Amino acid sequence: MPNCSNWFSPQAADGQRFLHPVQRHGVIITTANGSKLINFSSNDYLGLAQEAKVIHYAANVLHEDGFGSTASRMVCGDHPLLHNFEHEMAAWLHAESCLLLGSGMLLNMGLLPALADRHSLVVCDKLVHASLLDGIKLSAASFKRFRHLDTSHADSLLSSLSSVSSISQTKPQQRKIIVSDGVFSMDGDCADVAGLLSVADKHDAILILDDAHGIGVLGEQGKGCAETMLQHERLLLCGTLGKAFGGYGAFVVGSENMIDGLRQRMRTLIYSTALPPCFAAAASTALDFIKQGILQQRLTENIKYFIDLTQNMPRLSSQTAIQGIVFGSNKAAMQASASLKAQGFFVPAIRPPTVPKNQARLRITISAIHSKDNISALVAALKNL
Ligand SMILES: *Cc1c(COP(=O)(O)O)cnc(C)c1O
Repeated sequence: MPNCSNWFSPQAADGQRFLHPVQRHGVIITTANGSKLINFSSNDYLGLAQEAKVIHYAANVLHEDGFGSTASRMVCGDHPLLHNFEHEMAAWLHAESCLLLGSGMLLNMGLLPALADRHSLVVCDKLVHASLLDGIKLSAASFKRFRHLDTSHADSLLSSLSSVSSISQTKPQQRKIIVSDGVFSMDGDCADVAGLLSVADKHDAILILDDAHGIGVLGEQGKGCAETMLQHERLLLCGTLGKAFGGYGAFVVGSENMIDGLRQRMRTLIYSTALPPCFAAAASTALDFIKQGILQQRLTENIKYFIDLTQNMPRLSSQTAIQGIVFGSNKAAMQASASLKAQGFFVPAIRPPTVPKNQARLRITISAIHSKDNISALVAALKNL
């Protein structure tokens, strides 16, 4: 009989243990046993998580307004700093409106059920982030996954789903939604945003683009992989503050009508404690840095340096801060990660189901605050594996 001590088989937790960092300082992680590792796993692409000005402003707000937001925004958890950041983000991303959420996971799990119901049709890229997939499932919409980056497959799936459901003709207004990451979190490649938007046009659908890893990083102005298409009326753009912004929280931008509707309907907004004001303050300061573009430039140089040094390695084709080296078997990837750790580098092995079967890999993330020496030392270690 199951009881609390034998519910899970022991293998279930195999390998997925915390690193137990006791300190993170710049790119150096100190672990509980005192070893120091150069961190190549962080999403802090610009080094803003420990930027002095960001911390300074957030600390002032922490002193002024306290630690917590004390309730949902619908009750008394709202704060002018949250609105302030929403206005800044909407203006920066050329959108009418913005809504701030507790995290990307909360955003995506609330967004899809607010937009789609069992009469809706959703198609999503095969490799979308888990939060989007969970959101789609919660929405109860009919959904299909299209082949990774394959916009014509998205097109044909929408056509076939539409024709099947038109037989019943129960619902006059059947919503259609295309869902994709901008930069894909495990491969580092980018969606064909223009292609997806033209499929959206053709099918009278909207495109939900989650550019968590692109906003703040990619594009001439750091606005992500949809930078040149931000004003497209079918685009609903999501991002997180946990990556380039170096903090915590998430946002969605779109039309006034859309964001207003989401404000009324998103259960993960209504039934969850509001983001604390100090987080919004920190994110505003982080946005100032992102607008300057200096850190992006440094990051871009570091990425190029890494790519140049790894020409002959089994590297996934990615021009972004996310760089994968595929080993295939779980064991080989785990051994590579362990060997790098013994040499002073933290590079996690990512295994199925997070990535497809037989594609276990090292996932390397590059940051603006890595030195050239950090990167060349890692590449030397990789070549000696
Ligand atoms: C990291 C990530 C999320 C989750 O964001 P959090 O703010 O960390 O919860 C959602 N979508 C994508 C594509 C991500 O990479």
